[in-house]
Amino acid sequence: MNKRVELKKYNEEGHRVYDCPICATGDVVVKDNLFYGKCDNCEATLIDYLPLPHQEAFHESNAQYRLNIGGFGSGKTTAACAEIATHALDTPNGRSLITAPTLSLVKDAVIPELNKFIPPWHIEISRLNPSPYYKLNNGHEIIVYSAADQQKLRSLNLTAFYIEEASGVNYSIFDQLMTRLRSKAGVIRDKEGREIDYKYMGIVSTNPEDGWILDNFMLISDKLVASPSIDVRMYDDFMKNKLNRHFHTFISSTRDNQHIPAEFIERMSAGKSERWIRKYVDCFIDISEDAVYPEFSQCLVEPFPIPRHWKQVAGFDPGYADGVAFLMGAIKPSDGSVYVYLDYYVKEMPVSFHANQIGKLVRGRDFLYPIQADPSVNKRNDRDGLSYKDYFYKLSGVDLASGNNDIMYGIEKVRDYMVSGKLFFFNNLENLKYEMKNYQYHKSEKRNSNDTPIDKHNHLMDAMRYMVAKFPQDPNDMVGVYVNEKIHSPVSSFIESFGESKEEVTYGKSIYRGIKKF
Ligand SMILES: [Zn+2]
Repeated sequence: MNKRVELKKYNEEGHRVYDCPICATGDVVVKDNLFYGKCDNCEATLIDYLPLPHQEAFHESNAQYRLNIGGFGSGKTTAACAEIATHALDTPNGRSLITAPTLSLVKDAVIPELNKFIPPWHIEISRLNPSPYYKLNNGHEIIVYSAADQQKLRSLNLTAFYIEEASGVNYSIFDQLMTRLRSKAGVIRDKEGREIDYKYMGIVSTNPEDGWILDNFMLISDKLVASPSIDVRMYDDFMKNKLNRHFHTFISSTRDNQHIPAEFIERMSAGKSERWIRKYVDCFIDISEDAVYPEFSQCLVEPFPIPRHWKQVAGFDPGYADGVAFLMGAIKPSDGSVYVYLDYYVKEMPVSFHANQIGKLVRGRDFLYPIQADPSVNKRNDRDGLSYKDYFYKLSGVDLASGNNDIMYGIEKVRDYMVSGKLFFFNNLENLKYEMKNYQYHKSEKRNSNDTPIDKHNHLMDAMRYMVAKFPQDPNDMVGVYVNEKIHSPVSSFIESFGESKEEVTYGKSIYRGIKKF
């Protein structure tokens, strides 16, 4: 952004007047509704855009990808247009793309804002229809396509892109555009011609909605900046383990925009629910709004060494087509709480592979119950009369027991254990965290009271239901569970062998194999 220049005065028409910072003798007049002006002496251009305090961090960030997520009217579009215009004026022969769910959204909401930043005397060609287009005197082009036009986005060489209202745009578009930032005009070279830096820039702007914006951007952002009215700590537990330094996210509320009159917020909130206001004005992204397990984030714990002798429990979901999900937990003998410390979610591999892997994970451990699995493991196939369970046992020596597959019973019980403080999860279990956040009921307004959750993101969730369904009805009875169903060992030996022995320990582990979508 430009160096700050002191405002000299307002002229009779209410336009801003500056002393020219270049020649120091001329005046620059900037019209009330614009951000540019020209010196009447040396013809230098002055851009006098002054970001709102909450947008300063956004402009100062040097991350290649920046997400601006904010309430309605929080000034996102203006900030994005300032970046695109500055980039275009600074990057000769470069190319910037602006895209949005529809072309008319760009025409109506973005172009008028962009025009406040691009002085006409820097424009060689510009048009609005059929799709907006600019060619600047420095050879930089600004092109606009609807995000529905995926075909057109495929072969571009860009130096910058800007996705407006990204909640209405598919992740595949963003994914595609990241690979399009490769025009040579974006490379900064030193005198010897060596590449020393890049001007590449991807800006994503959106109202507070979840979806890929959360999973593939916000929660992997190396930097999460919010205006003071927003508490970002609520996202802490959902942040991924691996953050990406090229991603920065900026969160702001409508209330941060001092240019918006108070009655505007009142008017837009009229008749709306508390929840609506919290979301679309205060930019509170309620991760657990429709979650099946809203208490989940309170049950996350830092991984700790699990004494080898804690009894084990496990759940298994065969999921023939979309992979095998498997969870393991250990029971703390002193209070009977269960700590889930391992998740396994592997796709597109044969049963023999899973049998081998899971065999290794469970071997030598002392289980309270056999691994609880989807009852479908008992079904015999027509070919050789062998069930999944039999086959799995043959390959691994691991016994899968048929679990209770009553969905609502299982979910209630899992929640029971969570709210009773008897079920915890290591916070490094990425697969589990992903499903916990995305395993949801239909949106509240479309939901009936006895609806089951949406049949998605539920493989580990199912494995967990099978595991927990076997537990005592009252979570407080877990501490008293003393009989290993297979060994029938007495309570005394169960308790005694569980001193806080630290000699052999296990830390949390998250195993994933397949196409990563998070
Ligand atoms: Zn001048």
